[in-house]
Amino acid sequence: RIGFENVSVTYGALTVLHSFTLTVNPGEIVALIGPSGSGKTTALRAVAGFVRPSGGRILIGDRDVTHLAPYDRKIGMVVQNYALFPHMRVEENVAFGLRAHGAAEDVIKKRVPECLAMVGMSTYAKRYPRELSGGQQQRVAIARALAPKPQVLLLDEPLSALDAQIRRSMLDELAKLHRDLPNLTVLYVTHDQSEALTLANHIGIMRDGKLKAFGGSQSLFRHPPNRFAAEFLGRAN
Ligand code: ATP
Repeated sequence: RIGFENVSVTYGALTVLHSFTLTVNPGEIVALIGPSGSGKTTALRAVAGFVRPSGGRILIGDRDVTHLAPYDRKIGMVVQNYALFPHMRVEENVAFGLRAHGAAEDVIKKRVPECLAMVGMSTYAKRYPRELSGGQQQRVAIARALAPKPQVLLLDEPLSALDAQIRRSMLDELAKLHRDLPNLTVLYVTHDQSEALTLANHIGIMRDGKLKAFGGSQSLFRHPPNRFAAEFLGRAN
């Protein structure tokens, strides 16, 4: 699981997460939605260890990771602009994370093709990122994030740079990937409500650094628990 317990994050005078509390149960996909600037990305970055909370705790499984370095947290993260290393071939990009975790070369040789197969990119192993489409680059980024077998996958608008048709097929692929890896706990940030509804078991709606609503994805849409959620979901009467 991923646990946020009263997590606060400040940038100078600006408080971006206000005592933020949320649990993503093991094997679940939770989507975080909310207006621009509400703190969604900051919440992910706090789990990844790229921002340091000024208060509260972050748990991964039963471990308090609040003060651990990013590499010690056993997470994989994919951001919207793919961020593959341009000078490395696809297979080297996927191997990179494994090497950084100190994996032995024979483990890397076995694991890289496994991960590329998982995302349907086996035949592209020798290509450079610039020789791939946006959707293909994003598949490689997912393979790279999953290579060290993280317990937790953090996805920050992973499909938002893709066109609508590719986005739909990637959404199906992400759902399938999660069926193949049922223990993987996923926190997914998106501005696209239909994406959240399709993929997530639960959805959290943020505003001003707080969780304003949380519930099963279907029931949240059918019965928004408060006016803000209703308005945000476009169902205010
Ligand atoms: P969006 O949907 O636009 O991506 P978001 O909900 O992901 O927004 P965050 O990126 O978490 O929001 O940002 C929350 C607030 O924190 C914003 O007001 C933003 O300007 C501010 N912020 C984010 N990163 C920094 C930073 N490094 N330094 C200062 N302020 C920051």
